[in-house]
Amino acid sequence: WSHGTSEDAEISLRELAALAETAGSEVLDGVLQRRPHPDPATYIGKGKALEVRDVVAAVGADTVIVNDDLAPSQRRALEDVVKVKVIDRTALILDIFAQHAKSREGKAQVELAQLEYLLPRLRGWGESMSRQAGGQVGGAGAGMGSRGPGETKIELDRRRIHTRMAQLRRDIKAMEPARAVRRERRLGLPNVAIVGYTNAGKSSLLNRVTGAGVLVENALFATLDPTVRRSQTPDGREFTVSDTVGFVRDLPHQLVAAFASTLEEVAHADLMLHVVDASHPDPESQIRAVREVLADVPGADQVKEVLVLNKADIADPETLMRLRGRREITIEVSALTGEGIEELMDLIGRELPRPEVTVDVVVP
Ligand code: GDP
Repeated sequence: WSHGTSEDAEISLRELAALAETAGSEVLDGVLQRRPHPDPATYIGKGKALEVRDVVAAVGADTVIVNDDLAPSQRRALEDVVKVKVIDRTALILDIFAQHAKSREGKAQVELAQLEYLLPRLRGWGESMSRQAGGQVGGAGAGMGSRGPGETKIELDRRRIHTRMAQLRRDIKAMEPARAVRRERRLGLPNVAIVGYTNAGKSSLLNRVTGAGVLVENALFATLDPTVRRSQTPDGREFTVSDTVGFVRDLPHQLVAAFASTLEEVAHADLMLHVVDASHPDPESQIRAVREVLADVPGADQVKEVLVLNKADIADPETLMRLRGRREITIEVSALTGEGIEELMDLIGRELPRPEVTVDVVVP
């Protein structure tokens, strides 16, 4: 569901397909539906739902992914029609984050986000019961006064989830000092933070800039936990480079909150390299999506930003021209071919703070 043009919708659908592949699915088909408003019952409307059911049967799919957030009742109604599992965009993204969390802290953060997503959906299950009982549908009061056995079970689950969430919050809080210590250890060395939309080439660029063999996957979200590597400016000064979590359009708010701590890295950086996929049909919207996430990171707006126009080897010259005209400092590179990397290293050398030179004059 978007207010954009059909081209926007297609880009968005292609991106959803890429996300699904990242999650390990094989994408069989895509269906676009144009309508003035989402259908309150089935989201895509009964007729379209029947069409999707036929597509599902024809290609032998076992899951339908909807490119938006679905109300619990919409998800159920759609499942009833298409006869296979239906998941929404947030559930998909949460799944990918769960698969890619490596550190203990990352795992705890994802679980917290998943439970946050689940909690209001428990109420959704209660809603259908209260509807049967003639209760009020929707709103926080749904289900009140119609407390059946099912409702008791939901209350129990809800309590258990709240307990688990409180535990996770405590665990995450307890891990904070360790993160501060890790940062402290790197202190003294200037830090460059790499940010950018998913698949823009952040990991590839980190490889180029540090010469280290960081895992590069042609997948969204190869990076979840920040990776930190050392490097040197052309004149031999050491600095660290950190890669941050994958940014994606409409990042579920549960995840923005969960990853605020990971993104803190950016606020502590001396320089931010904002990697842009210049070969994308609409890089500006990706730049905006990244900025929206960064707007929630206190201090990030104080860090000097360079737009690294990546994939210059395959970018459309007109897009490059347009991006070059922006008011930010821009530099064209290709993390793939290495073109422009030397210039980028020079630029990093110029922009990073120089250590204060102290000369001890020893007077005999
Ligand atoms: P990340 O998600 O931002 O970390 O992106 P990756 O570094 O994993 O790169 C995503 C995909 O884009 C990979 O298939 C890379 O090989 C490819 N890629 C990265 N940089 C370039 C580039 O400069 N040119 C081209 N043609 N492909 C690139």
